[in-house]
Amino acid sequence: MSPDDVLQRQSTSPLRVGIIGDPVAHSFSPRFQQAAFDALHIATRYELWHTPADQLAERVQSLYGKDYLGANVTIPHKVSVLPLLDKIDPLAARIGAVNTIVHRNAFLYGYNTDAPGLIHALYEHSLGELQANGQVSLKGYTAVLLGAGGAARGAAFGLTAAGIERLIILNRNLERAQSLATEVQQVYDGPVSSLSDPTFLLPHPASIIVNATSLGMHGDVSPLSAEQLARFASDTFVYDMIYNPCQTYLLRQAQAIGLRTANGLSMLLHQGALAFKLWTEQDAPLAVMRAALF
Ligand code: NAP
Repeated sequence: MSPDDVLQRQSTSPLRVGIIGDPVAHSFSPRFQQAAFDALHIATRYELWHTPADQLAERVQSLYGKDYLGANVTIPHKVSVLPLLDKIDPLAARIGAVNTIVHRNAFLYGYNTDAPGLIHALYEHSLGELQANGQVSLKGYTAVLLGAGGAARGAAFGLTAAGIERLIILNRNLERAQSLATEVQQVYDGPVSSLSDPTFLLPHPASIIVNATSLGMHGDVSPLSAEQLARFASDTFVYDMIYNPCQTYLLRQAQAIGLRTANGLSMLLHQGALAFKLWTEQDAPLAVMRAALF
């Protein structure tokens, strides 16, 4: 869709876009996406579309309406939505998850902006280098990925595409970690290992630990103990995709021993900015979105 197309469509009635999930009431997306549309004077409403699984097909079908720009997709539909779409972007297909739907020329396109959103977030936290082609390089880093679910899958493909030195996947369910490792290895030349017991984790210098488990959302629990974290070098960066609570037990433990940390708000911001660009073909007003979010 061109910017002209967006303008033409909104001249008749406000456009609609929203987040599809179950639950969605807690989502921060309306806050910063609405601010972005308003700032660029694109008459669009960003809505909460609470959608139980048995209503997903109907909800996706509604996006063919002429006023619909598309949608964000969240738990638990990021995987099950794929067969309902007309075209899937290659990165989203590889990850096996879609978090952004674009309604363009009467087709529904599926994208994954979580993966590049994470890499943009890490760059914002001073990790990696921006290359001439606009991509961020994480050359020289070892990524320790905690988790092997949907978010971890995006992170694994995003991190390896950004050129990390090696990937270590730690997950409670070992088979799931191994299966992700095998898939990643098909498109990545570097070493990939998988394990389920963190006591066997070998700390490497220049490590980025990424928590992509849901452990830490409730209560003082962490995928790594203080002792396990303490084995990592002082230049280790700990990123927790969880942003609510804003300081998980993992991050508090890491800070206590002097490691640099960040929570998942920056990833949320960047995945949202990339989605905004896909819907509108205009650069997202990042400062406006950030101010609305933080
Ligand atoms: P998911 O597909 O359900 O995966 C959950 C992961 O957490 C799995 O690896 C699972 O391990 C692990 N896990 C769950 N409970 C555990 C426990 N008690 N002990 C050890 N491991 C446990 O969920 P997801 O979609 O990947 O989301 C994961 C987290 O990322 C959520 O907190 C989500 O909010 C966050 N997220 C943030 C952003 C952002 O923009 N900041 C974007 C996406 C996701 P098993 O395989 O062993 O079950």
